[in-house]
Amino acid sequence: MRRSLPLFFAALLAVLVFAPHVHCGQSAVPANAPYKDAGQPLDKRVADLLGRMTLEEKATMLAGSGWMESAAIDRLGIPSIKMADGPMGVRSWAGSSAITNLPGGPQKVLSTSFPAGVAMAATWDADLVKREGQAIGQEVKALGRDMILGPTVNINRVPLWGRNFEGYGEDPYLSSRLGVAYIQGVQSEGVIPSVKHFDANNEEFERHRIDEKIDARTLHEIYLPAFKAAVQEADAWTVMSAYNKVNGTYCAENAMLLTGILKGEFGFKGFVISDWGSTYSTANTVNAGMDLEMPGGAPARAMIASPRSQLSGNSGTWLEKDKVLAEVKAGHISEATLNDNVSRILRVIFQSGLFDHPHTAGGEVDTPAQQAIARQGATEGIVLLKNAGALLPLDPSKIHSIAVIGPNAAVARTGGGGSSLVRPKYAISPLDGIRERAGTGIEVKYALGAVMEGETPTLETPATKAALLQDAMNVAAHADVAVVVVGRYSKLEAESFDVKTMDLPAGQDWLIDAVEQVNPHTIVVLNTGDPVTMTKWIDKTPALLDMWYGGQEGGHGLASVLFGDANPSGKLPVSFPKKFEDSPAYGHYPGENLHVDYAEGIYVGYRYFDTRNVEPQFPFGFGLSYTSFEYSGLSVTPKIFGNAPINVSLKVKNTGARDGAEVVQLYVHDGHAKIDRPAHELKGFKRVELKAGETKAVEFALDRAALSYWSPEKKDWVAAPGTFEIQVGGSSRDIRLSAPLVLVRQTAPIKLVNE
Ligand code: BGC
Repeated sequence: MRRSLPLFFAALLAVLVFAPHVHCGQSAVPANAPYKDAGQPLDKRVADLLGRMTLEEKATMLAGSGWMESAAIDRLGIPSIKMADGPMGVRSWAGSSAITNLPGGPQKVLSTSFPAGVAMAATWDADLVKREGQAIGQEVKALGRDMILGPTVNINRVPLWGRNFEGYGEDPYLSSRLGVAYIQGVQSEGVIPSVKHFDANNEEFERHRIDEKIDARTLHEIYLPAFKAAVQEADAWTVMSAYNKVNGTYCAENAMLLTGILKGEFGFKGFVISDWGSTYSTANTVNAGMDLEMPGGAPARAMIASPRSQLSGNSGTWLEKDKVLAEVKAGHISEATLNDNVSRILRVIFQSGLFDHPHTAGGEVDTPAQQAIARQGATEGIVLLKNAGALLPLDPSKIHSIAVIGPNAAVARTGGGGSSLVRPKYAISPLDGIRERAGTGIEVKYALGAVMEGETPTLETPATKAALLQDAMNVAAHADVAVVVVGRYSKLEAESFDVKTMDLPAGQDWLIDAVEQVNPHTIVVLNTGDPVTMTKWIDKTPALLDMWYGGQEGGHGLASVLFGDANPSGKLPVSFPKKFEDSPAYGHYPGENLHVDYAEGIYVGYRYFDTRNVEPQFPFGFGLSYTSFEYSGLSVTPKIFGNAPINVSLKVKNTGARDGAEVVQLYVHDGHAKIDRPAHELKGFKRVELKAGETKAVEFALDRAALSYWSPEKKDWVAAPGTFEIQVGGSSRDIRLSAPLVLVRQTAPIKLVNE
């Protein structure tokens, strides 16, 4: 008995020493715990670590610890996930965009400003988007962060959505391909992306309150595919829920979306993160499938207390530890659910390498390689919409003077406003780019012509406006060509409100008209993220380009296209209606009494224009080149299809005198299904580089999914047996070749027929 006394005191001492750090049921973590071993299987590491966590620690992980940081559990070495906004580069993480976008705002993060999502979509270049994602991943790491809040894959439903510039346009297939590419690029660097905003964030109007009525078929065919592809093809590590409600329930607590579709139907294994201030309950949110509420801690409390949030409807702090624990204790949240939430977060921490190789700041950003990707995107994304009389490309040997005019000429409008606006180290305006390219041999003159609506109210007097217009006309009249750069800027086109009108901002239509009156060689350049109405001038305008928001290299991209150093190859990722009233959701936007009915259903973009025979100003997929392309030899094998992949091949020839690239698009027409189907749907595309005179074979592989629609009755994808038409062409309205494909009914084993 005596002998055991020292042992007893030693044990007592140990308990006393460790007690303050040790929670009930918790033991010290051995250095060789399986979860610490990078060589162990992922699931084993997750299970081991989860098994060592207390209930309190688990509950702590469901809410952020700061504006852009998840909670760390130091005892177990669980790191905080440090986030940064995107998707067009890395933005400051110091606070909301309203604060960090202020010129004197806190914490300047200078990084590469890549072209807006819509500009990258106009490249139809998935490989480039992947490299962009990778470059952004590198910058995230170099800045000591772990996660980028992007890509945005929401569909352009209405031309007025304030965030159209962030997404990849109107088509779910195109958005899927580019979203997957971006995610793969980011994840290849061990950086965590967040695919947003799940689901159907298609208007900013009352975004915290709006309730969208969307039928199941429309959800599956239009608003879900890009998320499905992100999960199933790119194995995306996180998905961000949207602010809005879908069918009566906030996305953050929408069990049908988060658990039923995302985690169930799609098999998502990562974690769901809330959009900033989009939660409205504790148990409902956790039980619906939300894993991590953001922001958290003091910044979250400050955010919801602010008059701005109260006005807009932001809400949060519902998944704070004590609130979650109270619901667990009350039996409203099960420990199994909590375990699932936490396991998902842990899984991503291990999977991304964050646990084993934390990122440290101090690396290089805005490197020449990253700038080159931004420049390639800016250049390839430019869409040549009109080129009457082959005014473009400009011939430096014939041109002696250029007038560069407009509110977007001398300022680099790199992106739209809000959480995606990156602050670059430098940005090339159209005027900078043109001056640099023109060199000393060509005189470049500049005139503002019209002030940007709302930017400098002191200049918006009738007298100043008239003087500016007159000055622009004088400058244009004495130049060989005039380049008028019009569009919006980050305070007219931004997150948190929709664009007021499809018309160009005040005074810009007049400016175009005035310049065209004095100079017949006028090139109009659009610098926006949305389609704009152009009926007032388009017939008289000889040349028109859309440069979107081209990021920091936008001006270089524009100059290379104007001078023919680059042959334009961009194609519209969105249909341009002639007027807002022609757009498919007209009459069903922005909704009434906080309800909006997606009554147009699946007829979004070209699905509407091409099916209902409404002529757009410019169709989806459209874009001119300085050369021309000929399509031939379309073959579809097998012509009768059971289950094996279908091979579609054709030849494309560059029939002009310049090297160029054509985006070959493949559409599927189903005229036989008993259900209403669009005239055709994009199911493949390839960007093909062709030297002058060169011919290349282009191949596509199609599967059953390419022929299918979502059946509300079967609650599944269905391909109706019968004859489909496979169409290939240069836009949705420029179908050059088509061939039949027969889908046989699958009653007996299928015999494939090759002809
Ligand atoms: C936006 C998100 C963004 C988040 C954090 C929200 O207002 O909708 O896209 O990532 O803020 O800045």
